[in-house]
Amino acid sequence: MVYIILILLGVLNIVLFIRNRSFVVRIVELKNWVQKILSGTSLELQPDPHHDDLAELRQSFVTMYTRMEESRRDMEMNYQKLQLSSLTLEEKYAQAYTLQLIQEEIARELDSNQLMKKTLDILLGVFGSKWCTIYMVNEQKSVLELKANSGFAAAPVYDKIIPVDADHLVARACRERMVFTDADEAMAQGKTSGNIAIPLSGRHNCLGVMVMENELVRIINQDLIDFAKLIAQELSLSLENAYLYDKMRRMATHDALTGVYNRMYLMNYISELFASRPQIVSVIIFDLDHFKAINDRYGHLVGDMVLKETAQVAGEMLPTGILARYGGEEFVVVLPEVPVNEAVRFADSLRHAVFEHHYRTDDGRMVVVTLSGGVAGYPENADSFEGLLQKADEALYYAKNSGRNRICLADKA
Ligand code: GH3
Ligand code: MG
Ligand code: MG
Repeated sequence: MVYIILILLGVLNIVLFIRNRSFVVRIVELKNWVQKILSGTSLELQPDPHHDDLAELRQSFVTMYTRMEESRRDMEMNYQKLQLSSLTLEEKYAQAYTLQLIQEEIARELDSNQLMKKTLDILLGVFGSKWCTIYMVNEQKSVLELKANSGFAAAPVYDKIIPVDADHLVARACRERMVFTDADEAMAQGKTSGNIAIPLSGRHNCLGVMVMENELVRIINQDLIDFAKLIAQELSLSLENAYLYDKMRRMATHDALTGVYNRMYLMNYISELFASRPQIVSVIIFDLDHFKAINDRYGHLVGDMVLKETAQVAGEMLPTGILARYGGEEFVVVLPEVPVNEAVRFADSLRHAVFEHHYRTDDGRMVVVTLSGGVAGYPENADSFEGLLQKADEALYYAKNSGRNRICLADKA
C-alpha cells in the first residue's frame, strides 16, 4: 500500500513538473513579447488557438496596443490642428490690435493730407509693401488724382491722373468698388512683385483707391487682402469725416459765392495780425460802382458772375495778405508789411484790371465794370485795426463822391 502511495505521489510530481514547466515557458514568452512592445518592435504575433488563457491575454494586448496607437495618432493630429488654429488666432489678434491702433491713429486726424500720409506709413509697416499710393476721385468725379505716395523701393512709374472710365487697374477698382490685382500678368512676365488696388468706398460712391505694390506671395494671400480691405474701410470713414470737416471749415471762413474769405475770417485775421504787433499794415476797401444798375439791367445772375470774376481777378493779383468779401459788392484787401503808397499803386492796378476785364453775359453781351477804392495805412492813418478800416472806408466814400472809378488815400482824401 505504501508503495502504491509512493508511486502515485511520484506520478503527480512528474505531472506537476511538466505543467509548471510549460507555465514558466509561457511566462517567459509573454515577458519577451512585452519587451518587444516596449522597444517599439512591430507585433506580428498570431493568436494561439491551442493555448486558451495566455493566447487571449496576448490577443487583448495586441488589440489594446493597436487602439493606443490609433488614439496616439489622433491626438497628434488634433495637436497639430490646435497649433494651427492657435497661430491663426494669434495672427487675427495681431490684426485686430493693429486695426485698433490704426483707428486710434487716423480717426482723430481731420486733415485729409495728414490722414493719407499716416495711412501710407501704416500700410508700409503692416504689409511690408514696396510702394503705396493713394488716388482720390476729383470733385467732377471724372478722374482719379494721385494724392499721396510713399515706399521703400525706388518710385515706380505711375500715372498721376487716371480717368475713371479708363481700362486701368485703379480705375476698375474704383468703378466696380472691388479689389483688383495684376498679380497674374506680373507672374506671367516673370516679375516678383505686383499691385493690388483696394477701393476706398464712401457712403454713396467711390472716394478713391489705395494701391500697394507687394511681393507676389503676399498679394495672393486672401487673409492679407481681407485685412487690407478693413484698413481701407477705416481710411474711407476717416477721409469722409475729414472732407466734411474741411468743407464745414471752408464754409465757416469763406464766402460761398466768390470763394474768397468772408467778413468773419477777415475780422479774426486783422485782430490776430495786430496782436502780433506788426510794423506796417495797409488796407484797401473797394466797392463796385453802380452795381445795382448792373443787377437791374442784366439780372441777378449776371450780377453774381460779376462778383465772382472780380474776386478772381483781385485774388490772382494779390501780392501778399488776404482778400475778403466785406459785404454785398464790397471787398477788403489786407496787406501786411506793405507801405501805404505801394498799396495805393496796387489798388490802382486792380481798378485798371477790373475795368479791362471782359465780363460777358451768357448771351454774349459785354458788361463794363468799374470800382472805387479807399486805402489806409498803419501807423500813418490809424493806431488800431478798427481805426484803419474806418479810415479806408472814409477814403472809399470820398472816391465815390468825387466821381467813382478812382482810388483815394485816407487823410489825403
Ligand atoms: P455805388 O456806386 O454807390 O456803390 O452804387 P451801387 O449800386 O453799387 O450800390 P448800392 O448799395 O446802391 O447797391 C448794391 C447792390 O448790390 C444792391 C444789392 O442788391 C446788390 N447785391 C448785394 N449782394 C449781391 C449779390 O450777392 N449778388 C447780386 N447779384 N447782387 C448783390
Ligand atoms: Mg457799389
Ligand atoms: Mg456797396
